[in-house]
Amino acid sequence: MSRKHETEVLVVGAGPVGLFTALCLAYRGVRVQIIDEEFRTSAHSYALVLHPRSLELLEDLGIATDILRQGYRVETAAFYRGQERAGEMRFAECGGKFPYALAVPQSLLESLLEDQLRLMGIKVQWNHRATALSMADTHVAATIDKLTRGSCGYAVATTEWVAEKTMHSEAAFVVGADGHRSIVRKSLGIEYEAASDSESFAVFEFQADADLEYEVRIVFDGNTSNVLWPLPFGRFRWSFQLEHPGSKVEPRSKRRLTVPIGRQVFPHLTRDDLTAFIQARAPWFDWDVQQLDWAMEVRFDRRLARQFGRNRCWLAGDSAHLTGPIGGQSLNMGLREACDLAVTLSAILRDGAPLDSLDGYSERYSGEWRKLLGLGGGLTPSDQAQTWAKDCRTRILPCIPATGDDLANLAMQIGLTSV
Ligand SMILES: Cc1cc2nc3c(=O)[nH]c(=O)nc-3n(C[C@H](O)[C@H](O)[C@H](O)COP(=O)(O)OP(=O)(O)OC[C@H]3O[C@@H](n4cnc5c(N)ncnc54)[C@H](O)[C@@H]3O)c2cc1C
Repeated sequence: MSRKHETEVLVVGAGPVGLFTALCLAYRGVRVQIIDEEFRTSAHSYALVLHPRSLELLEDLGIATDILRQGYRVETAAFYRGQERAGEMRFAECGGKFPYALAVPQSLLESLLEDQLRLMGIKVQWNHRATALSMADTHVAATIDKLTRGSCGYAVATTEWVAEKTMHSEAAFVVGADGHRSIVRKSLGIEYEAASDSESFAVFEFQADADLEYEVRIVFDGNTSNVLWPLPFGRFRWSFQLEHPGSKVEPRSKRRLTVPIGRQVFPHLTRDDLTAFIQARAPWFDWDVQQLDWAMEVRFDRRLARQFGRNRCWLAGDSAHLTGPIGGQSLNMGLREACDLAVTLSAILRDGAPLDSLDGYSERYSGEWRKLLGLGGGLTPSDQAQTWAKDCRTRILPCIPATGDDLANLAMQIGLTSV
């Protein structure tokens, strides 16, 4: 076996999309290496919904059961305009195997995927950072730093991650699932263009005695979009879009420590703020908030890579696209991309399919993302569309917890056609 074949696919990034890519490849018998510059999976719920299509993908790998057991079923997406309930979409009408979305913390999804990889004999190489890539005709060469904690500082000693040693690795293909600051995308020189202005949200996660009866509630209030997601075990998440983002908005980075950060990092986001947001935007939420577990402000950019890769280096997930948080579209579309890439790569590696069979991957997902980001196509009102749906149609699209055919199906239920 030549050296370059020891790893057939190097996956850079062990977020949910990278972990799922590695798993899909491993299930197809592809030799895979997965690295991440951080020291463990993320510690918070972040993207907290799995769309029906994602549940099907997990089931195809035989790993849906554990996740289903630990998630909360969401059967309806209800829309409020101001304080009035305006309409709803029911997953059951999409007709798939899973007539619901599943609310499940991203941290849980990541650890289940990591466990599954371990069972298949693949260990995530944490503390390994890809620093450079170069593509040849037959392979990609990657430079990887193994990180360790080092002491530095003079007046005040601090520790930070430093390179312990630098390694060189070769793989037939590289998948960049390395998030929005992707080194893989940058090394390919692919532009990451803004689709529109960024949006900031105040996010509150809490325990309450509420009963949402298996639905997510999306609230359009003035110019803001807001969402209330139920989570398993009596927890909930309100995300309120900020009209005037403060200076403390968190750059988009995932935390790995399970310490409470609400009071420490965002002292201005308190339980009183949660109460004030609820009174102003959703006074119908009159349940008792028992404990505020987590609060933060976070900024969401809306971006799309000019292309999803080329030749032997390909992108999936946040490395290729960013959107707002409400519909969970970034993560779920990322899982679809991961599966699609794994199928195509294994066809090339195992069945002799041509290298250019990957070109269709970029076209497919660029097209879908252009729609989701309002850069082409979108939702148009049919004769049955109610006034609120006509008025809010551009805001509705990123809030629908689905992509592809399911999104079209759900939108039809309020008289909007996906074009
Ligand atoms: C604070 C916050 C709140 C969020 N809230 C929501 C929400 O409410 N709803 C929603 O839908 N989405 C939300 N998201 C977004 C969601 O978490 C992402 O869409 C999802 O994580 C994308 O997964 P990914 O695997 O593509 O990328 P990521 O999860 O970003 O994973 C990328 C991984 O690559 C690693 N990496 C980066 N560079 C390198 C390198 N050079 N070498 C090795 N490893 C590298 C990183 O350490 C990281 O683990 C939120 C994100 C954040 C940060």
